[in-house]
Amino acid sequence: INKEWHAALQVIDRIEKSGFEAVIVGGAVRDHLLQRKVNDVDVATSALPLEIKEIFSSTVDVGIEHGTVLVLDEGEPIEVTTYRTEGTYSDYRRPEEVKFVRNLEEDLQRRDFTINAMAFTKDGDIIDLYGGKEDIENKVIRAVGDPNVRFREDALRMLRAIRFGSQLGFTIEEKTLKAIQVDSDLIDFIANERIAMEMAKVWKSKFVYYGLQLLIESNLSKFLVGHFSDQLEHWRTFKAEKSEIGWAYLCLLNRQEMQDIVDFYRLSKKEKTFVRKTLNAFDALRQKWTAMDYFSNELEILETAYDFARWQNIALPFEKEEIHAVKNSLPIQAIDQLAISGNHLMSWTTRKSGPWIKVALDAAIIAVLNGYVENEEDKLKEWFLNDFINEG
Ligand code: ATP
Ligand code: MG
Repeated sequence: INKEWHAALQVIDRIEKSGFEAVIVGGAVRDHLLQRKVNDVDVATSALPLEIKEIFSSTVDVGIEHGTVLVLDEGEPIEVTTYRTEGTYSDYRRPEEVKFVRNLEEDLQRRDFTINAMAFTKDGDIIDLYGGKEDIENKVIRAVGDPNVRFREDALRMLRAIRFGSQLGFTIEEKTLKAIQVDSDLIDFIANERIAMEMAKVWKSKFVYYGLQLLIESNLSKFLVGHFSDQLEHWRTFKAEKSEIGWAYLCLLNRQEMQDIVDFYRLSKKEKTFVRKTLNAFDALRQKWTAMDYFSNELEILETAYDFARWQNIALPFEKEEIHAVKNSLPIQAIDQLAISGNHLMSWTTRKSGPWIKVALDAAIIAVLNGYVENEEDKLKEWFLNDFINEG
């Protein structure tokens, strides 16, 4: 049991002492039963947001209109959400307005899948109205209630089913999968940012190849950007610690549509930079990396580019472990380790400052990296005056 779980139980204890109900709900209960690492522990309660704020001394209104208050009293921040149902759905999207209710049953009923619709009480009892425990045992993702109805209420749930499949390695129950196949086009109503958040979770998941199989089988892949069915085999051994790697690999496999991918999934500046760097490093790898390639790319970029080649069964003449050894053996690791700076260059000539300084420093780095000149001020001065200036 981790710190958050413990803090959540403390929060529940205090809510109950004030005369309301409270339980742990959703993903935390599921992950607890699966003995997986529990991330955020959500508490649901019969108390209204203002009642919660009266019980605790330190709270933050993170989503009070949806009934969520963040409680800080127990050391770990715990999200406490009032039991609620969702208002009417329109355009196949989750409604903005919610209705608070006083009983847990109604709250559990609005949840997407049986494995996500369980509650855990302070005494350790599991409240499981829809057979979530059995579905966990059988490794099944099943919609709560009629799947067609549930996916028409909120079409994102279809992609969430794929995402949970990819994370847990669970199958999607037959009627639930059929319903997705029938309504897959409704995913077009969902904001691209929300689609991208689910796909980002797919990239980081344990069973990406299987997840993409589900994406194809469910028909959803047809409504996303990327040629998933043609390229499935390239994902067989894919494994990523962070979602950027997934975006970059998707771009690599779909070079022609790279801009469409960036636009469709609304990639951030940071993600775009990562994509550009890893694809450049991958291209350079086809030649064989130069000392400059090792110097100018972070280890993570080089290792990711190496993985890209392996995942596509491109044979490489060296081991991944060698990358870091080669990089460490460079005479300099970063530009600030160069024995000279722009000021040195200026003091050695009568030339005025200008773009030539960067050109000269880059040339100096290459000369040092290639062992043509030692990284010492005197040696670099000699190189600069004899080789660089003379050759223009
Ligand atoms: P994760 O480990 O990714 O956080 P999670 O199950 O906690 O998984 P969240 O998106 O954090 O997923 O949602 C918390 C809970 O809220 C879910 O377990 C589910 O009960 C409910 N929920 C979330 N999104 C939806 C939705 N679109 N439709 C119905 N219920 C949802
Ligand atoms: Mg969660």
